[in-house]
Amino acid sequence: MPVKRLVKRSLRPQERLAKRITSRGRRLTDQRLVVAEALAARSEAVSAQELHERLRTRNPRLALATVYRALEAQVESGMARRLERHGHVSAYIACEPEHHHHLVCTRCQQVEDLDETILKPVLRGITERHGFAVEHERLDFYGLCASCRRATSA
Ligand SMILES: [Zn+2]
Ligand SMILES: [Zn+2]
Repeated sequence: MPVKRLVKRSLRPQERLAKRITSRGRRLTDQRLVVAEALAARSEAVSAQELHERLRTRNPRLALATVYRALEAQVESGMARRLERHGHVSAYIACEPEHHHHLVCTRCQQVEDLDETILKPVLRGITERHGFAVEHERLDFYGLCASCRRATSA
């Protein structure tokens, strides 16, 4: 019983990723799955180049352009978010389509999901002051995470 459960659990994330990759009629390729798995395994934002460097040893035929295109395709299908970095570089983080807000550490690149309830007073304020009803919003906050702040103040 525990063995069976373990096997099932290890299969599911890959199947889920495969489903999401093909959700908009995109072809599932091994390379796209490799990129999606690698991104989903990380809790910090990575650029296409960083991900490519990490994947290259085990996937020598994987081109940087392929990694870049796979990441952009994930953004389009709501599997990932594109974040900003200094020097006009994009970084990526795996994300659920229904999730929208992030706290991005500019030092260690850790990305935390922001509790949506924090924004409720802001949205209410927008309606009150501007008479504007927000239907959707996407907010990424850039700064230092708690552990980087501790490290810099020490
Ligand atoms: Zn997210
Ligand atoms: Zn940090």
